[in-house]
Amino acid sequence: MEFEGMYRQPQRPKYDCLLFDLDDTLYPVSSGLAASCRKNIGDYMIEKLGIDEGKIDTLCNVLYKNYGTTMAGLRAIGYDFDYDDYHSFVHGRLPYENLKPDPVLRSLLLSLPYRKIIFTNADKIHAVEALSRLGLEDCFEGIICFETLNPVHKNSASDDEDDIEFAGLPNTTRSSDTGSEIFDIIGHFSGHSAGSGLPKTPVVCKPSEDTIERALSVANINPQRTIFFEDSVRNIQAGKRVGLQTVLVGTSNRPKGADYALENIHNLREAIPELWEFEVKSEVGYSGKVAVETSVTA
Ligand SMILES: [Mg+2]
Repeated sequence: MEFEGMYRQPQRPKYDCLLFDLDDTLYPVSSGLAASCRKNIGDYMIEKLGIDEGKIDTLCNVLYKNYGTTMAGLRAIGYDFDYDDYHSFVHGRLPYENLKPDPVLRSLLLSLPYRKIIFTNADKIHAVEALSRLGLEDCFEGIICFETLNPVHKNSASDDEDDIEFAGLPNTTRSSDTGSEIFDIIGHFSGHSAGSGLPKTPVVCKPSEDTIERALSVANINPQRTIFFEDSVRNIQAGKRVGLQTVLVGTSNRPKGADYALENIHNLREAIPELWEFEVKSEVGYSGKVAVETSVTA
């Protein structure tokens, strides 16, 4: 590997942009935030939506599996709630103190002369808090988060906010507008028609390919020249389908759809040394590194 530079012609770096998921990607699952978040979502469903406690685990699993996030699934089956209220409930009491400054990751990121952007399904307050705790808040050009891709939504009684366009999302419905009818998704999957006829969600989130393409468009990202880092296999596979290079983080087992797999984001240099190939071609410069001033953050 160390002789590579001697035989190659200087060329434009292969990548322009590094696109990072946040949770369980830039810090490990062992932090306990994901487990706490799951518990808080269950509590929200019981306390705020009045869902029977005995249904929570099954319902969360079914919604997460079919809609990308539990929140997206709750909206799809007819629950209506204020997005900010939901986010402050499920994220407001996370054990952020478990996230410590990560100088190793910080120095890795700062040594890479590419655009670096966060792409998370979470809300902006959570993303900023987590990045700040990790000491990485100034390592990224911007954050594509929940608010970037979703219109403001309080609840159906407040105003007509859902009339904001959902361009690029086919079959978007507004199931909650028609009343308090809740779609029995658990019953649906115990019947014969499982998988077909599910209500659509108005929430825009990974792993929908439309969502990923919209995020790329918002930040003016060329997928062919971008590496996408994620801990979720299905998000990685969706990213691959839209043309991104993909890195699964959190395991060294590389599934279909992942170009690389890293046990920990700290293994970046060992796993993808080509990201630092500019070091042997430093006289070439970086025509691909354009500081595009995009309003990425919501
Ligand atoms: Mg994640």
